[in-house]
Amino acid sequence: MNTILDTLKDYVDLPSFSHDKDDASRLSDRIAQDFKALGFKVNQMPGKTYAPTIVASWGQGARKLLLMGHMDTVFPRERFRPFSISGDSVSGSGVVDMKGGIAVMVHAVKRVLPLLNADEAGLIAVINADEEVGSEESTPHILAAANKAFAALSFEPSQRGALTVQRKGVTAFRVDVTGIGGHAGSDYKKAASAIKQLIIVLNRLHELRDDTQDVSLNIGVIGGGTAENVVADKAFATGEFRSFDPVVLTGLRQKVADICNAKGIPGTTTTLTYGQTHPACKETPESLALFSAAQEIAKKQGRELILESTGGAGDISIAAQAGIPVLDGLGIAGEKVHTALEKGDAALLPLQVDLAAEMIIKLFREG
Ligand SMILES: [Zn+2]
Repeated sequence: MNTILDTLKDYVDLPSFSHDKDDASRLSDRIAQDFKALGFKVNQMPGKTYAPTIVASWGQGARKLLLMGHMDTVFPRERFRPFSISGDSVSGSGVVDMKGGIAVMVHAVKRVLPLLNADEAGLIAVINADEEVGSEESTPHILAAANKAFAALSFEPSQRGALTVQRKGVTAFRVDVTGIGGHAGSDYKKAASAIKQLIIVLNRLHELRDDTQDVSLNIGVIGGGTAENVVADKAFATGEFRSFDPVVLTGLRQKVADICNAKGIPGTTTTLTYGQTHPACKETPESLALFSAAQEIAKKQGRELILESTGGAGDISIAAQAGIPVLDGLGIAGEKVHTALEKGDAALLPLQVDLAAEMIIKLFREG
């Protein structure tokens, strides 16, 4: 482990598409090796579908701080781009989201270990390999670590100088409608259009969007029917809704069910199925205090951090389920993640390592 750019290059040059378990396992081994070199006790929790989640711990202290990241990317081999650097800008698959963040974490930890007392402090790093596909396999490992921790720092990328303490929860759903098919000219009075019923349901669902409360509802896919001269006997739609507030999400779940269960066009049946959900993480006074601590450190560096809310789901929401304060966005600053144009700011990397290192020290010194 040399400079942070060497570490970052090593990580980026090991492709780690979530669905390529062999590839991602090689990166899991590589990162595990770095934590072992730092004196961590490293467990690689085997996954069924995805590469092992790393759970690495250091120190015997009762007060444990959780450090979070994910090693997987959204890029299959055929779209993989190796690490490259040009001026102050680094690129390559996952360089920002979030191999840069893991590199920042590893180097910040390396910096702080000599300053911590292993009898009083404890660090647990959890790095999963299924974040981009919903973190289903790694959720128990994240939660188990969060339950032992007093706070969590996550190293997802940030826009220049932005940190986040809240993320939206997401609930996915599917609506299936069956009707009575028939000829569009001769049978239309006896038929019952599944598409017509679906449109009624979707219009009602769209009314649940509430910009004043940052509640979104999106229908992403619709389908149904067979031809323009046939009354459709089947139609479906898939969608999702998001909110920062877990209570709002629970309410929405009921409202969507009520709309789907309401009496529809005679002859049609509407069925709702809920799919993947990701919990919400709402800001709390404790998480805002974490942000203030980071802001104070950044001010000494001569820069200003801003607080940003994001509609994207993230693993801090899982950690927040344990009731601990969370702060996200400590990774590399960059843009255009999940695209071939993904690029990160190398010039800011040393400051990001300083920030993370000083945060860790501050949390152990000041509680
Ligand atoms: Zn990410």
